Amino acid sequence: MTLINNLSITREYIAQAYQASNQKARKPTLIAVSKTKPVADIIAAWNYGQRDFGENKVQEAQKKFLPLRDQGLEFKLHLIGPLQTNKAADAVALFDVIHTVDRLKLALALHQAMQKQQRYPDLLVQVNTGNEPQKAGVLPNDATAFVQECLQIGLPIKGLMCIPPINVDPEPHFAWLASLACQLRLSELSMGMSKDYTQAIRYNATYVRIGSAIFGDRE
Ligand SMILES: *Cc1c(COP(=O)(O)O)cnc(C)c1O
Repeated sequence: MTLINNLSITREYIAQAYQASNQKARKPTLIAVSKTKPVADIIAAWNYGQRDFGENKVQEAQKKFLPLRDQGLEFKLHLIGPLQTNKAADAVALFDVIHTVDRLKLALALHQAMQKQQRYPDLLVQVNTGNEPQKAGVLPNDATAFVQECLQIGLPIKGLMCIPPINVDPEPHFAWLASLACQLRLSELSMGMSKDYTQAIRYNATYVRIGSAIFGDRE
């Protein structure tokens, strides 16, 4: 089956890229990005040992993954898309890692939801490393102050995430994000997608978010 083949090849490439890196960070966790894909594909990947899944929308993730959790399947769910403040509580209830914290209002809403639910997903700050107007994330110049603000309100930030602009060399973006994480003493780096994850691993990515290389092209 193609999906299993893809998954197996992707794991192999990750292992090779990690071996070839200076291995300063832990081996990267492969997040299988299942957005727009059917539950049958998720189950097929799960049966092949995949445990980390990524979705970019709260509602779609609830619909697909809540029934699986109710059935007793164990997995870690990652939110990799922009989060609206009014969905913060739903996100805290469902996700294990939220990669897209990018503004104070959202940080406050997450903090409140976490206190109320006594549930503490890992949180990463998304940085718009390419300064792209249409893209979510804090601007590079604001990233340090924002992470510190989050810490001040009692929100533990574990790491940083970025999506480099398309059609440019992603490596300077990965390098910059890695050095910022190092300065801020943050251990997690979420960077690298289907086309560039081996490069991201060279810069110590700890999470790679891979969709089409596993599940095939999206509509
Ligand atoms: C869709 C998506 C991915 C996966 O993209 P592929 O190119 O299909 O691997 C990774 N990260 C984010 C934030 C995404 O929205």
